[in-house]
Amino acid sequence: MVAEGSPNEGIVIVGGGIAGLATALGLHSGFCRMGLKSQILESHDSLRTTGFAFTMGTNAWRALETLGVVDSLRQQHVRLQRVSTTSTVSGATTHVPLTGRGNFGEYEARCLRRDLMVEGLARELPRGCIRFGAKVVGIERKHNGSLLYHLHLADGTTVKAKVVIGCDGVNSVVAKWLGLPKPGFVGRTAARGLAHFSDGHDFEPDLQQYFGDGFRLGFVPCDDKTIYWFFTWYPSHREDGEGCEEEGSMMTSGVV
Ligand SMILES: Cc1cc2nc3c(=O)[nH]c(=O)nc-3n(C[C@H](O)[C@H](O)[C@H](O)COP(=O)(O)OP(=O)(O)OC[C@H]3O[C@@H](n4cnc5c(N)ncnc54)[C@H](O)[C@@H]3O)c2cc1C
Repeated sequence: MVAEGSPNEGIVIVGGGIAGLATALGLHSGFCRMGLKSQILESHDSLRTTGFAFTMGTNAWRALETLGVVDSLRQQHVRLQRVSTTSTVSGATTHVPLTGRGNFGEYEARCLRRDLMVEGLARELPRGCIRFGAKVVGIERKHNGSLLYHLHLADGTTVKAKVVIGCDGVNSVVAKWLGLPKPGFVGRTAARGLAHFSDGHDFEPDLQQYFGDGFRLGFVPCDDKTIYWFFTWYPSHREDGEGCEEEGSMMTSGVV
């Protein structure tokens, strides 16, 4: 979500999650390599490295490559070989390879730990790019000869911007200000976590998943000591959709 104003103030990104960090990096040194500086306003008082993991395919790895953060992340995560899916109703299992070449070159899939991705993105940003403890509570459009956006923070201060980029997650203040519709509730609930094996595990580098009567569960190695697991079920206990405005970290309500 981008709102454009006059050219005498900076670019401000609201939210320092994965989208905010990646956007700042892309503007500065990533895909456009334009050296565009931006200021991230993050409501939390530090980098939010909690959470678990994401299984990411070729396009996502290409994106990290373009942002210049891919080398250490590739070294820290095992390359997945296949997806095995079992129906608990019929007992049948299918296997789909995650290797070989497709339309976009060689296929690549790994399960990426969220903490390592967030830290990896933040590490490459220029010093001082993220302002922590900066919760945006209101936005105003001002004309004082030129167009500027005034971002009002919870601590009573105001930040001026010529461009505002909303990366503030599911309950976005920017999206609300732009008049975008509220997020829809998909009716699915998830619990997820990481299991740590201090002496290493013996699982193959495969995504194993099972589905049945309204649920899907699975597990997948991130590296030789960490397994990501998930359990999703449908319909949810909140069929009315209440609670869908909770922030993204609610997705991490699983117990490790
Ligand atoms: C802490 C956390 C852990 C997560 N763990 C997982 C996981 O393990 N697996 C999974 O699949 N998904 C997880 N998610 C969700 C996933 O990261 C996001 O859904 C997805 O990456 C989209 O990222 P995003 O940057 O758009 O939004 P988010 O990751 O939600 O980031 C939004 C950021 O904006 C900040 N913010 C919100 N409102 C304001 C405001 N008014 N002013 C300033 N800053 C604001 C938030 O503090 C947050 O840092 C997690 C999300 C969070 C926040």
